[in-house]
Amino acid sequence: MNIGQKSTGAIRTLLRRPIPSSRLPPLLSRPMSATSDIKILRTVAEVRQWRRDLLVKNESVGFVPTMGALHAGHLALVNHSKKENDHTIVSIFVNPAQFAPHEDLDQYPRTFDSDKAKLDELGGVSAIFLPTVKEMYPNGIKLDRSKQVGAFVEVQGLSHQLEGSVRPHFFRGVATVVTKLLNIVQPERLYLGQKDVQQTVVVRRMVTDLHIPTDVRVCPTVRESDGLAMSSRNAYLNEEQWERANILIQALKAGEEAYLAGARSQKDIVGAAVAVIGDLMLKSENGVTLEYMSLADPETLQEIDEIPEGGKAIMSGAVRIGNAAKGERVTRIIDNQFLPRDA
Ligand code: AMP
Repeated sequence: MNIGQKSTGAIRTLLRRPIPSSRLPPLLSRPMSATSDIKILRTVAEVRQWRRDLLVKNESVGFVPTMGALHAGHLALVNHSKKENDHTIVSIFVNPAQFAPHEDLDQYPRTFDSDKAKLDELGGVSAIFLPTVKEMYPNGIKLDRSKQVGAFVEVQGLSHQLEGSVRPHFFRGVATVVTKLLNIVQPERLYLGQKDVQQTVVVRRMVTDLHIPTDVRVCPTVRESDGLAMSSRNAYLNEEQWERANILIQALKAGEEAYLAGARSQKDIVGAAVAVIGDLMLKSENGVTLEYMSLADPETLQEIDEIPEGGKAIMSGAVRIGNAAKGERVTRIIDNQFLPRDA
């Protein structure tokens, strides 16, 4: 891609850029009221009591774990849960165990009031679980993995490639907190987003291997109108960076187009995707770095050389947006695409 040619198009696109959902005012579809039907549960004991009462009444529970800064992607999971369960509980917990010491734990957006307002407006949510770190990790939690003591859950073979290759601590933190949350909430169904595809594979495997009696449901990725996958971290992007972040979805589209044109090898499909990002990356002032672009088996997450006849693959990638040398914040953007799309 020629950056010079792109600049006028880029300006036009900037003018058309959607306002991130996190910055939109609350929807006015439901009257705002001072009171709310949603119970705020802060302790494990409170959730257990709430759950016990529903169990006695034979009412089902769907669970949507989140780190807050809710957007339409989270709300879509809630809507799926509402359709399939008598009650929906959303957890909001920024889990320290999935952040490395150098990552953005302290800066991660914490927006409880607007999160709750969004859930109030949506309606149909029975409870929010809003624990403290002390409640979830009663014996404390150190970010430095070599200093951690206690029980952790690790899903071997699925946690150290792709996202795990860049964030080696991440899936151990996710698997540990999701196990804790499932033990506490004991939901019939758990709702996860396709956007974090490796997380869905890791959690599914964990639930099966540990005999956790919860059905895992995976819901499609919700996107901004320009295609960027919604993410709480999109709020970190300024307008120019947002424009550059769209390179990832353009790359995945190029990979898919190669597939639709008959390509089946990793070389051709990933090659087509990487070519889209290549020119932008060459100029360091653009602040775009490709971390990985992968074509993997959707169950084992092992890289595949060739998609077999009638087979499926997951193409996924991560880019870092932001020029640290210019003092800009660097934001990771991830996305993925099944091949074929309806797999
Ligand atoms: P997070 O708050 O980022 O930990 O995400 C909580 C849940 O929401 C996870 O299951 C994510 O996969 C899901 N999620 C996040 N972004 C999206 C999106 N754009 N579309 C669908 N699900 C999403």
